[in-house]
Amino acid sequence: MGDEKILYLNDTVIKHILTWDTLVPAIENMLYAGSNREETDTLQPHRISMKIPSKPQGSLLLCMPAYCGKEHAFGCKVISSFPQNKEKGIPSINGLVILLDTETGRLKMILDAIEITAWRTAAVSAVATKHMHKGEKKILAILGAGVQGKSHALAMYSIFKFSQVRIWNRTSERAKALCAELGPWAVPFEDREMCVRGADVIVTVTFSTETIVEAKWLKTGAHINAVGGMRGRYEADVDVYKRATIVVESLEHEDEDFKGLHAMGVKPLCEVGELIKGTRKMPDNKEFSVFHSLGMGLEDIATAELIYNQYMKRNEKQLL
Ligand code: NDP
Repeated sequence: MGDEKILYLNDTVIKHILTWDTLVPAIENMLYAGSNREETDTLQPHRISMKIPSKPQGSLLLCMPAYCGKEHAFGCKVISSFPQNKEKGIPSINGLVILLDTETGRLKMILDAIEITAWRTAAVSAVATKHMHKGEKKILAILGAGVQGKSHALAMYSIFKFSQVRIWNRTSERAKALCAELGPWAVPFEDREMCVRGADVIVTVTFSTETIVEAKWLKTGAHINAVGGMRGRYEADVDVYKRATIVVESLEHEDEDFKGLHAMGVKPLCEVGELIKGTRKMPDNKEFSVFHSLGMGLEDIATAELIYNQYMKRNEKQLL
């Protein structure tokens, strides 16, 4: 680095720069790139996942490198996930995104990863919903009122203008507090089944180790964004997966998450990027659709690159 200053953006600045209107198209482009790697000069190796056995279950470090020549985005996210942090009043997911120059490999910026993870995950769910769910979008049910619960409520409401956003949380006070913060369009639900019944779109964003959505609660045509499940931990029951068209960000990376489901004959149909390109279509013969969110490094660098460009543009204006 020599004696150059390192550009570092914290979460407060990032929150002021990001908007759903700019992020969702950037994520859509990157999901396309991830499914069309040769055409877009894109790489995304398997992430390194390091479990920390001496800490409570689910504590891990993830290292997620990615490169996209077409979108000029290159870098790596390094985050820890410590689910027990919630009890201490601090975020469960913490870390950094390192953004590099695609031509020289030099460091462009270091960014906090909390807001990036919150925003990019919700934006990916929004893009998946746009391409997978064709019906009316009146009622959204969100299970989980943590960081992802809030970002999904904001993204989905802003993009699809749901008339009601229902929120359920294991600790009901947190659902009530989140709804009070969001506004009258968000309604807390004490009962999980009542929250899900009749919903057009459902988002699951918890650390639950047991399934929290049952197929018998879903109306025909319902779409689920299953975000919280990871490595054999599913938030929707197996029946949902068996009766749904399942789509992921990357078929190359679904193995780890779908281990248990493969044995039951459940496999994702395709990637969101293929739906975007139009090389695959959603079939009509399934009752539900599930976007099973894997969370990919390309999504982080797409968001970081967008923030970098917006930040540089604003600073240039201030200098004039
Ligand atoms: P938070 O810690 O902010 O929120 C955690 C949520 O999970 C809270 O609503 C909490 O409820 C709930 N919860 C925890 N344990 C249980 C349980 N046993 N049963 C029911 N609910 C439970 O975490 P985040 O919002 O950052 O993350 C939520 C989920 O999303 C995690 O599983 C995380 O791994 C996943 N995630 C996925 C990403 C992706 O790209 N696919 C990216 C980022 C996160 P309570 O308030 O009662 O504690």
